[in-house]
Amino acid sequence: MERIIQKRYRVLRTLGRGGLGAVYLCDDLRLPGRQWAVKQMNSPHPDMFDRFRATFVSEAETLSQLRHPNLPDISDFFEEEGQLYLVMEYVDGENLAEHVRRRGALDEREAFRIGRTLLGILAYLHQHQPPIIFRDLKPENVMITRTGRVKLIDFGLARRFAPDKRADTLPSGSVGYAAPEQWEDSGQTDARSDIYAWGATLVYLLTGKIPSPVFPMAGLREDTRLSPAARSILERCTRARPNERFTDVSAVDADVRTLMRILAVDDDESDARESDGLDAGHDPPPVASPAMGGGASREASAALEPSSSSDSSRRSPANAAADASGGAGNETRRGGASPSAPGGASLGGAGASARASRVPRGLERFATSSAAFVLLVLATLVWIGALAVAATRHPQAGQETAAPIARPGVAPYRQALADAGRREKAVSLYASEHWAEAIAALDPLVTETPQDAELQILSANAYIFLQKAPYVRIPFVGSGTGPDAFDSMVHLLGLGLAQATVNARGGIQGKKVVIDVYDDHSQVDRCIEISQQLVKNPDVRVVLGPTNSQRALAVAPIYNHARVSLVAPTASSLAVWDAGAYIFSASDSRPPRVKALADFMADQGVKSAGIVCERTSRLSHEMADAFTEKMKARDVQVSVLPPFREGESDFTEQVNAIAQA
Ligand code: ADP
Ligand code: MG
Repeated sequence: MERIIQKRYRVLRTLGRGGLGAVYLCDDLRLPGRQWAVKQMNSPHPDMFDRFRATFVSEAETLSQLRHPNLPDISDFFEEEGQLYLVMEYVDGENLAEHVRRRGALDEREAFRIGRTLLGILAYLHQHQPPIIFRDLKPENVMITRTGRVKLIDFGLARRFAPDKRADTLPSGSVGYAAPEQWEDSGQTDARSDIYAWGATLVYLLTGKIPSPVFPMAGLREDTRLSPAARSILERCTRARPNERFTDVSAVDADVRTLMRILAVDDDESDARESDGLDAGHDPPPVASPAMGGGASREASAALEPSSSSDSSRRSPANAAADASGGAGNETRRGGASPSAPGGASLGGAGASARASRVPRGLERFATSSAAFVLLVLATLVWIGALAVAATRHPQAGQETAAPIARPGVAPYRQALADAGRREKAVSLYASEHWAEAIAALDPLVTETPQDAELQILSANAYIFLQKAPYVRIPFVGSGTGPDAFDSMVHLLGLGLAQATVNARGGIQGKKVVIDVYDDHSQVDRCIEISQQLVKNPDVRVVLGPTNSQRALAVAPIYNHARVSLVAPTASSLAVWDAGAYIFSASDSRPPRVKALADFMADQGVKSAGIVCERTSRLSHEMADAFTEKMKARDVQVSVLPPFREGESDFTEQVNAIAQA
């Protein structure tokens, strides 16, 4: 059935649908031969209509004032039969999300070429009086034509920046692209919010994946093709704190220009480069006034200095064999191990594989010991999965390898645990690589004191070595003694469960997960020492721990410098989130971020979730409420599981509830 709007625009087809309505390609009946994109705004609830109308009118008014080759011209807007319409130039092309889905991730030069055009548009908007902050820059809102011309569409969210106004009127933005201050309840957005979205959009172009709202750079971490200068620019754009980003788009552009020159030199095609921009002759000249250019460029070129690493200095089997406890290599480590198994014959074969397919009982009982812990398990699984595989593919960093730095088998935890003498003996059997005997000694202790998860982990490791299964090693820096010993114990319970779960499902790309436990005695110095050793090992690409923010911050430079990821799961200080591109935390105590994570999980297709709270902790409940509210809004089913009391040690009730859910 033919549809004609305003007796003038005949609908040919739908161009796209977004948050606020549909966009149609239309013939113009009054000016034959002309085509328009007509955007129809739907209001989901009649009560909301006034607000939608206001958004719409402001979009139309804003757009009609603007003249820029990379913005669509707008020719009309009107209301008909309770529907609002905006008539604009039809851009014959696809949006960048479609573009990347069709073609795959873009190479660096192409991504940054588009990026520079976007910077030009942003500069134009930001220079407007008063400045226009676009606030919804993302791939779906950028069109690209067949000839490579770029247009920014969708002004639904752009509004004048009012410096006197503390908070924006509407919470807004799109998950993955919106800067953190856009999710904060009281946040005020400015040019730097667009800079964040610009960086996140570039991350998408380079990876083809929606950036994580809290770890925007994660998708690029293992991308070895990306130049350090590009990484450094994007990392700075996507900092959580606005004042740590570039201050304005001209500063970004100055660094991007430097980058383009570097890329041209790298590719040895600099002559072609100057003119091969698809926008050549159409798009405006680059943003002027590199006010911040000097410093920023220095940073970009500093990032270009070759890392002091030699590639592929893998451990020799001899080294590996000598290293009884440290994070030794994968296959090499296996070659070096000598699983002589006197008296342990009955433990091999069937017994070992049966074991691999179940989650240890003891761990299950303790699995729900804190909300942070649930996050820990999640983070551990995700990060082990994402990074451990890369560990085998990109050997990197120094020639020296880590000497044994700590015997696995930290001092007994506070709640002390297994019989000290028997524990020590079992651990020393493990350290001397008598796998079968170690298992025989460890397993009874695991049964007797299931809360001593380290024993569980050592036993699981020993089975893997005994079976000679291929594996990846993941070091965990915990605290056997000192104020953080209890936290460490909780971490280990999570790690043990994660290890068992991942391995029961076949491991990561066919490799079982081995966890090495290191003890920093809750001390900063010790943690630094361990970290320095670990990053020297070319096979170590991700390290878990330490358990508090102070130590995580202290060792952050070591990991950033070595480009080894550190996941400090429960480090909750805000500073940890900004400690560098290689530093991660899975703990958060601010509802907006938890909501953003919920959004992200929903986007990833999560259909149901369960929450365990600490009964008396207000914070724990606040986090759970924020999470639940967001998940429900996204139609994810959330079950609230029985809460636990601080210090409680029997979690059977919670585990049963999880099993039923
Ligand atoms: P929403 O506010 O609903 O997100 P958009 O303005 O972003 O709406 O438009 C939704 C989609 O419609 C875009 O991603 C794009 O694919 C298509 N589209 C929008 N405007 C145009 C246009 N002027 N020309 C061609 N396609 C367009
Ligand atoms: Mg849109």
